[in-house]
Amino acid sequence: MDGINAILGAAQILEHSISMPANSFIDMEHVYNYVIERDRRKIIKRILTEMSQKTTFDCSSKQQYLFKDDDDLYICKCPLHEGNTRYRTNSKGEMVPVTLTRAHVGQTRENIIQSVLNDFPDEKDVIKLFYEVMKRHRETQIVLCCRACNKKLEKHRYVQKI
Ligand SMILES: [Zn+2]
Repeated sequence: MDGINAILGAAQILEHSISMPANSFIDMEHVYNYVIERDRRKIIKRILTEMSQKTTFDCSSKQQYLFKDDDDLYICKCPLHEGNTRYRTNSKGEMVPVTLTRAHVGQTRENIIQSVLNDFPDEKDVIKLFYEVMKRHRETQIVLCCRACNKKLEKHRYVQKI
């Protein structure tokens, strides 16, 4: 704690006591044990999944605004979309406004990560593995579309650019 406080600077820490219900505290001992008991390959896989997803999102975060209509609703431009392109049906069968996801065409993120881990089973340098995952992503089409179409696009080999 002292280390964290030192980084934050003592002036920013307010000393007066506040209270919250016990069940609003996350058991970080449990989280730590979960981490250290987990298989290393699973941790690396998780790091690669989160990082590739987040990086792709960060580098394309503004692109989705091209698909907003005058009512501030997103439009799914995927030809596989069923019904109103501004809405999709969720798992409960309800119509909900579309949000845009980044869909892999013809394969999944997991396929790519798995192929890297299979080719470099003993590699411990997670940065090297991450570079390789992103390198392989260059040969994959990623398109903006709704969650419902995202799933369908895994089964299509290629999307023609118009
Ligand atoms: Zn769609």
